[in-house]
Amino acid sequence: MSERGATRIRLEETTRELFRAGLVTPTGGNVSARAGPEEFWVTPAARFKGDLAASDMVRVDLAGQVLEGEGPPSKETLLHSAIYRARQDVGAIVHAHPLFATLFGLYSFPVLPVTADAVSLYDLPAVEFLLPGTRELGRRVAEVLGEGSTVLLRNHGVVTVGGDLRQAADRCHALEETCRLLLLARVMGEQPASISEPLAAALFAIHARKEEVDRRIGRGIGEG
Ligand SMILES: [Zn+2]
Repeated sequence: MSERGATRIRLEETTRELFRAGLVTPTGGNVSARAGPEEFWVTPAARFKGDLAASDMVRVDLAGQVLEGEGPPSKETLLHSAIYRARQDVGAIVHAHPLFATLFGLYSFPVLPVTADAVSLYDLPAVEFLLPGTRELGRRVAEVLGEGSTVLLRNHGVVTVGGDLRQAADRCHALEETCRLLLLARVMGEQPASISEPLAAALFAIHARKEEVDRRIGRGIGEG
C-alpha cells in the first residue's frame, strides 16, 4: 500500500477513536493528516463521524481544492489549511467539540496546578467566537496557535495539532481529561491540593521545552 493510502487509513482509525471517546460528535469536529508539503487528507463534510471509512476521506490542496475523493471536504477545511500553511512541522490536526474543554473555554477560571497536565494549560490560548467555516476563523486560529499545539475556540470547541495523528489525538484526549478534572475539582468546593509553585514552574518549563523539541523534529513532515 502507498504511504498516501496508509495515511488515509490512519485518518479513519483516528476519527473513529475520537468519536468513541466523545471528542468528535456525530456531526461536529473534523480531523486531517498531511499528505505532502502542499496537500492533506480531511474528513468529509456533513457526514456521521462514527462510521467514516478511509475511502470517504477527501484529499485537498492548501487552497482547499479537492484533489481526490467524493467530497465535499469538511466545512472547516480552511481552518486546517491555514494551520498547515503556517506550520511546516504540523502533520495532523484535530478539531473537536469535547464537552469539558468546550465548557472550560467559556469561563476564565484560574487553572489550578493540580496535575502536570493542568500546569501545561496555564497559559492556554483561546480564540474569540468567529463563524465556523470561515477564512477568518482559520486565520485567527493559525495566528493564536502560533508555535503551540493547542487552542480553545470559545463557544465552539478546540484545535490540537501534532507531528502526526497519534500526537494530535493524544493532545486532544489529554486536554479533555484535564479540563474535566479541573472543572470537577472546582465543584468539589474545598481548595484542592496543588503542586507547589517552584515545581509547577519547573513542570511548565519542561512542557514548553518538549513542545519546542517536537516542533523542531516535525514528525509529520513528508508523511504521505
Ligand atoms: Zn467545530
